[in-house]
Amino acid sequence: MKRDLSKQLYEEACQIIPGGVNSPVRSGRAVGVTPVFATTARGCRLIDEDGNQYIDYVGSWGPLILGHAHPEVVAAVRHAAENGTSYGVPTRLEVAMAQKVVDMVPSIDMVRMVNSGTEATMSAIRLARGYTGRKKLIKFDGCYHGHGDSLLVKSGSGLATLGIPGSPGVPEEIARHTLSLPYNDLEEAVSVMERIGQDVAAIIVEPVAANMGVVLPKAGFLEGLRKLSDQYGSVLIFDEVITGFRLARGGAQELFGILPDLTCLGKIIGGGLPVGAYGGKKAIMMHMAPAGDVYQAGTLSGNPLAMSAGLATLNILDRKGFHEELEKKSEYFARNLSEAAESVGVAVALNRIGSIGCGFFSSDPIDDFTSALGSNTQAYALFFQEMLKRGVYLAPSQFEAFFISVAHERDDLDRTVQAATEALQQVREKFGVSSRKKR
Ligand code: PMP
Repeated sequence: MKRDLSKQLYEEACQIIPGGVNSPVRSGRAVGVTPVFATTARGCRLIDEDGNQYIDYVGSWGPLILGHAHPEVVAAVRHAAENGTSYGVPTRLEVAMAQKVVDMVPSIDMVRMVNSGTEATMSAIRLARGYTGRKKLIKFDGCYHGHGDSLLVKSGSGLATLGIPGSPGVPEEIARHTLSLPYNDLEEAVSVMERIGQDVAAIIVEPVAANMGVVLPKAGFLEGLRKLSDQYGSVLIFDEVITGFRLARGGAQELFGILPDLTCLGKIIGGGLPVGAYGGKKAIMMHMAPAGDVYQAGTLSGNPLAMSAGLATLNILDRKGFHEELEKKSEYFARNLSEAAESVGVAVALNRIGSIGCGFFSSDPIDDFTSALGSNTQAYALFFQEMLKRGVYLAPSQFEAFFISVAHERDDLDRTVQAATEALQQVREKFGVSSRKKR
């Protein structure tokens, strides 16, 4: 498989874009490859500059639950564009989108649209601080909530991939208001809240952590955070940028039956266009300007093309049986992948919930950031390369999820499992049993 044109473009890009990419993990550094440059994509297939086809498990990092270029989404965007690309005054589409979100997400009474997940979390935190009059923030190690100053502390995603604990440029005066605690360790959260709970504006958490690979919440963890927030008057924020509309119609909060005060959304809500949103209880949301005095704004917020793509996507996934079908495919895929790893004899800890998952090269269970960081990233790099050669595009990092869409058919999943079996044999040859982390 030749990738000459991608390589050439990457060299050009590196001269004029820092690191050659507009978002760090895309660079492929962590897995020892240069990036694949896309030209087109349909369904679950991505086609690169050199004409290679890949079965895609990144799906634009989560938004494309319907697959690439879904005809109904494309038609909605085309129709919107023909009427005008942006107006700077409200539209009917924004009301329809807000109504749809309020209807689908159990804890949301009111919602505000923004342009990215980062904007959603930054705004939700400002709101929580404005509402409570407090400064401190609790997050969890390995969770990623975008690149806002307050949230780049022990983050997952690109920071985990590149081994960056925080970021230069974030003033210490800001970072010191953020405490990052171990994910899934409720006792630690209880003891910290006993000390500083009166000063904590918000507890923000990914209800399923999907930026350190995929780590599921232990029984009682999210319930415990709900209770702690109530006890100390802190705002509980679920960052559902990945899980929203994906794990269930109403996201992780519906699946687990635990309602946060505020929810951050992104990815799927934009149907592949740049969108984020935050919403929650009316009593809190009414503090946003111009209803209240906490400020946040956006020239292109509620953009008609983005609202059209998002609404078309939400309308499709709101159809009966959508999540059941996706679950069936995902369960089938994960079961066959696990069996493949077992038959080859490579230790893989496969965490999956709904249509997101991650196979860690580890013989230990992965239930927090420390155990995730202990997995064998060199084994993953080789696995990634071997899969790429076989026409499967995975996330170029051990610390990212794979995303399954409804466009992945049985045949695509079977071909992927066959490729994985061969790739795992290569991993076994190179690392033997060493992909098993010694206890
Ligand atoms: N929160 C979570 C849980 C995310 O996964 C991401 C992005 N991967 C963000 C926030 C930030 O979203 P964006 O990249 O759209 O700014």
